[in-house]
Amino acid sequence: MPIALLWFRRDLRLADHPALLAARDAAGPDGAVLPLFVVDPRLWDPAGGPRRRFLLDCLADLDASLDGALVLRSGDPARVVPELVREVGATSVHVSADAGPYGRRRDADVERALGAVPLVRTGSPYAVTPGRVTKGDGTPFRVFSPFARAWRAHGWRDPAPRPRAVRWCTGVRSDERPDAPQLDGVRLPPAGEAAAAAAWRRFRDERLTGYGETRNTPGTEGTSRMSAYLKYGCTHPRTLLADLAHEEGPSAAGYVTELAWREFYADVLWHRPETHREAFDGRMRTMTYDTGPDADERFAAWAAGRTGYPIVDAGMRQLLGEAWVHNRVRMVVASFLVKDLHVDWWRGARHFLAHLVDGDLASNNHGWQWVAGTGTDASPYHRVFNPTRQGKQFDPDGGYVRRWVPELRDVPARFVHEPWLAPDGVPPGYPLPIVDHAEERRVALDRYEQVRRA
Ligand code: FAD
Repeated sequence: MPIALLWFRRDLRLADHPALLAARDAAGPDGAVLPLFVVDPRLWDPAGGPRRRFLLDCLADLDASLDGALVLRSGDPARVVPELVREVGATSVHVSADAGPYGRRRDADVERALGAVPLVRTGSPYAVTPGRVTKGDGTPFRVFSPFARAWRAHGWRDPAPRPRAVRWCTGVRSDERPDAPQLDGVRLPPAGEAAAAAAWRRFRDERLTGYGETRNTPGTEGTSRMSAYLKYGCTHPRTLLADLAHEEGPSAAGYVTELAWREFYADVLWHRPETHREAFDGRMRTMTYDTGPDADERFAAWAAGRTGYPIVDAGMRQLLGEAWVHNRVRMVVASFLVKDLHVDWWRGARHFLAHLVDGDLASNNHGWQWVAGTGTDASPYHRVFNPTRQGKQFDPDGGYVRRWVPELRDVPARFVHEPWLAPDGVPPGYPLPIVDHAEERRVALDRYEQVRRA
């Protein structure tokens, strides 16, 4: 019986899955599809508890949809995939293309190791496969707005139909499932394809109309929280875009723009894979950051949500409590680490990746670079977020801050973003600001000026 192997990675669903359709077609009417997931230590080890847990739950959900046919193997895919191919006599291996630096290298290694058995890439985790949208002269975009215009003009296919009947190859041995990490009260979203579809329906029907107004207010449930589902491919952006095409108004258009950011950063990383670590803007590579015990101590205060700046502390505690942080607050806490504490953005990005359930190399590291002023787009280093003003503007009644920083529960709204000014002073147990924002802003601008002059 012909067997086509379907290697799941960031596409843990059955609907709108072109690689699944390609595997089914390759197996033919008399054949079967063998679904595989490889626990790759290169990705598993640095993922952090929330992502590992969410991934394992997604795999359990996928396995249930496959009537228990999902084969789980652990190890280097360049060894594991060809071994399984030989074991079952598969004639082709099907994947959704990976656009990340490691994924592309890994797939090239697997392809070589497979020899005559083809590795067939069909579709990707993006509406438009990274690398496809370029300027008229074929060079990549460096700025978001023109990219987004070209991306929209390029367009995307309709969602692929969910196959009605696939014959899954059963009875193939799995390795032992890795232990699920204990998360100490972190509240994760429900995992899997059905949960993603339900979350999207709820957002579309109940909150999408107000998204334009509420997407920047962390104290409301104004955003979709689809990021972890998109990260693991429990749904495909094309599925969301197809729904959004039926919606009118600025909120739906705004949501499409947010998805375009995700595609932009994947595209940037595709063209410049080294920028997951290095400054996209080469001039910023000489920027000096603080290191040593004092910097470590400040970093620890930031990570624990004990900087004395309420919106920063609320954000960092939300990260520890939900493995997710509101986008506005991600920008504020990132700016604080880089421009108030003068710590390299890369350190913050790594911390985020270890704690976020939606941790994604392209969106995260380029989100950090954007805030740090080392990345794409016109985001000058000298734009420094003022944490107090950001708090007052986007959390005016202090609801967000009070939710995550209980020490501030009884501080009147007027002072909740600057409790050091409250008549009763800073409540017991809450720290005074660890740095003076105005002073650190000057330091950051001086350093920027030095880079600019050099
Ligand atoms: P919504 O507002 O509902 O947006 C819908 C979708 O659009 C999101 O799920 C996401 O896929 C995409 N999106 C929205 N904003 C952005 C953005 N600025 N960049 C890229 N995609 C976006 N997003 C991640 O998915 N993973 C990360 O690891 C990540 N790290 C970030 C780090 C920093 C420092 C910053 C500033 C942003 C980061 N983002 C990251 C982007 C953004 O904060 C999250 O995508 C968003 O908060 C997820 O919540 P949501 O699904 O409710 O967003």
